[in-house]
Amino acid sequence: MILDDIVEKIKNAKDIVILTHEIPDGDAIGSSLAMYFALKQLGKEADVIIPEFPATYSFLPGVEAIKKRSNILNYDLAIALDCSDIKRLNGFANYFENAKSKIEVDHHSSNTMFGDHNFVNPVAPACAQILVTLFEYLGVEIDKNIGTCIATGIITDTGGFKYNTVTAETFEFIAELLNKGINISDTYRKALQIVSKKKFEITKIAVNRLEFLENGKIAFTYITKEEQEKLELDVGDHEGIVEQGRDVEGVEVSIFLREEEENKYKASFRSNEYVNVSDICLMFGGGGHFHAAGCTVELPLEQAKEKLIAQTKLYLK
Ligand code: 5GP
Ligand code: MN
Repeated sequence: MILDDIVEKIKNAKDIVILTHEIPDGDAIGSSLAMYFALKQLGKEADVIIPEFPATYSFLPGVEAIKKRSNILNYDLAIALDCSDIKRLNGFANYFENAKSKIEVDHHSSNTMFGDHNFVNPVAPACAQILVTLFEYLGVEIDKNIGTCIATGIITDTGGFKYNTVTAETFEFIAELLNKGINISDTYRKALQIVSKKKFEITKIAVNRLEFLENGKIAFTYITKEEQEKLELDVGDHEGIVEQGRDVEGVEVSIFLREEEENKYKASFRSNEYVNVSDICLMFGGGGHFHAAGCTVELPLEQAKEKLIAQTKLYLK
């Protein structure tokens, strides 16, 4: 059984590396640090490699242990968390590929099963929630550190418990954390509510130029590289912009483009009801979930916009 294989690999490994996806979000970082503390409890020191992460998550226990790189080339075991595809491993796929054993724990429906042992549950609302099952199996006690990291993953990936991905276990588990004295409301505020001034400014720009297309069913906006540079944005400061369009009455699909380089845009997609945006993004080499997905388009703005919108229109009722 997969969980037995994972337990065996963890118990036998000496060097372990924990990896997650590029532009890491609360679930990516929360899951990585939860795993770090869980392994510590089992007497294992692991390296967590995340080159850059949003300052928002600096409140998480264990962030000081995060490394930007490592000198170890061949780990005994690599564990990838919240990552659907080896291409998204932060440019650090080599640590994964060179490891003797490769485990991945994930919840993306577009997961490509790139590990030797793939513990993937596409109906889990967050990778962090899958870890709860795994930790139980490993005999790891959910203490304050692990609980805070897991709560952060669940809170951020469910948009604060509001997506239809939330399950009864989500609340059962949060109840357990509350019983253990973990401050859920404080974690919620730090992980999801507080925004930096720069983030607020870039959101203003994107909201100002947001347009509604196809009878208001599509919301579209973008930010340029110049704007990002001018505001000296930190990694992750664009997060949440795509939700601004999604939350307007009548919108089914919200699209947000962020210029990464000249003629290269990172697209974020969100849908409200019936459009599977992961399917749309797969057409452009990306992926994600039914209601939240992304891809990269190497075209000038107008052409990128036209292509993405033409594809999206096919899915509208
Ligand atoms: P976001 O819009 O917040 O960057 O991403 C939304 C969801 O889509 C996340 O679950 C993320 O992992 C996934 N996603 C975003 N961009 C890509 C991509 O280029 N490829 C794949 N496979 N998934 C992506
Ligand atoms: Mn996730």
